[in-house]
Amino acid sequence: MSAKHEPNILASTQQLVKEAARRLGFSEAMAELLEEPMRVLKVRLPVKMDDGSVAIFTGYRAQHNDAVGPTKGGVRFHPDVTEEEVKALSIWMSLKCGIVDLPYGGGKGGIVCDPRRMSSGELERLSRGYVRAISQIVGPTKDIPAPDVMTNSQIMAWMMDEYSRIREFDAPGFITGKPLVLGGSRGRETATAQGVVLMIREAVRCLDMPLEGAKVIVQGFGNAGSYLAKFMNEAGALVVGISDEHGALYDPQGLNVGELLDRRDSFGSVTRLFPNTITNAELLEKPCDILVPAAVAGQITERNAANIRAKAVVEAANGPTTMEATRILADRGVLIVPDVLASAGGVVVSYFEWVQNNQGYYWDEDEVSRKLEQKMKASFERVYGISRQRNVDMRTAAYMAGVRRLAEAIKYRGWI
Ligand code: NAD
Repeated sequence: MSAKHEPNILASTQQLVKEAARRLGFSEAMAELLEEPMRVLKVRLPVKMDDGSVAIFTGYRAQHNDAVGPTKGGVRFHPDVTEEEVKALSIWMSLKCGIVDLPYGGGKGGIVCDPRRMSSGELERLSRGYVRAISQIVGPTKDIPAPDVMTNSQIMAWMMDEYSRIREFDAPGFITGKPLVLGGSRGRETATAQGVVLMIREAVRCLDMPLEGAKVIVQGFGNAGSYLAKFMNEAGALVVGISDEHGALYDPQGLNVGELLDRRDSFGSVTRLFPNTITNAELLEKPCDILVPAAVAGQITERNAANIRAKAVVEAANGPTTMEATRILADRGVLIVPDVLASAGGVVVSYFEWVQNNQGYYWDEDEVSRKLEQKMKASFERVYGISRQRNVDMRTAAYMAGVRRLAEAIKYRGWI
């Protein structure tokens, strides 16, 4: 997930954005505007720790572009968070929102910290301090945060409470991914995985193969990966591999997903409990029909792309495949459903949560699922259509769909 592990995700994102703008015939000025966030705030956060000491944390909030609407995107807590990574992720959020047709631009936040080594009290003080530090630039009609890597509904609840205290009114629409009782949406927790399932269904349809019996490998067993493994198992696919940061499990006959789900901890770790693990790198090269990277960035590179034996790579994680690897996979005829499309289920249901907060009327789970399915299927069709029409890979096509929407809004506003 981190820029430290990744051959410059910001530079490659910028290159793809510029290429998409050029293919669509937009001006140099448009490409120049879109290649950077319009605003990045860096904050220093003093937090009283349980042992009486004070630790100083660094946080960021990047807002890519608000021509279409308020910016929107998660806040991640991770030791490897960098300004570059947060900037790249905010651009991805703009693209994602454009691709799935939401009235938002992209934003992203991050704090350099390790929540696995912090108590609940320390995390609460850090979360509240972050909201105080960024409160001037965020809000229900400005920039709406959400959960991301190692943040959850409890952290969203603390952040919402802090924002409501500052503004002196209840502001559920300030943040999404909240607990149900505080205005969360039904289906939000599983939304990213549900969206990935829908994209896998579209992918197998394009490949003309049944989902039932399809062999699936899922890298990462956290929020996105574990629900995905569960849903794939329920849909009759064969989950032959899963992994976490400690290693990977592979069984060509299919893994016992139920047992793995029962035994995983809240940070998505389970493989340590089992003997005969293999490495993450080995898992990626095992034979399967669908490979789903659902962990961190920079996993499929020019070093291993030629050895990937999947028919489709459906990216639940942000930035798991480098540009060179995308080219190698596309040349080999591997169908790529890119991150900016495949992992958009989370932000779609975040949008539904915000809509429900704004109208004060809440939908049942069926309604959420039905609307999610409509959005995701229509978005796949749109991107697949561009890819066919323009004879480009699905990632380039998705970037074109996202850039077009932003650029049109910018032109109508008269900025360029
Ligand atoms: P998470 O923190 O819940 O889980 C991450 C999983 O990846 C854990 O199982 C962890 O052990 C594993 N992992 C960490 N480092 C690893 C490594 N080096 N190699 C292999 N596995 C490793 O995170 P999540 O919410 O499931 O997100 C996973 C990915 O999906 C991220 O790239 C995130 O940006 C993306 N994503 C998540 C959502 C969402 O709603 N959760 C939405 C969009 C995109």
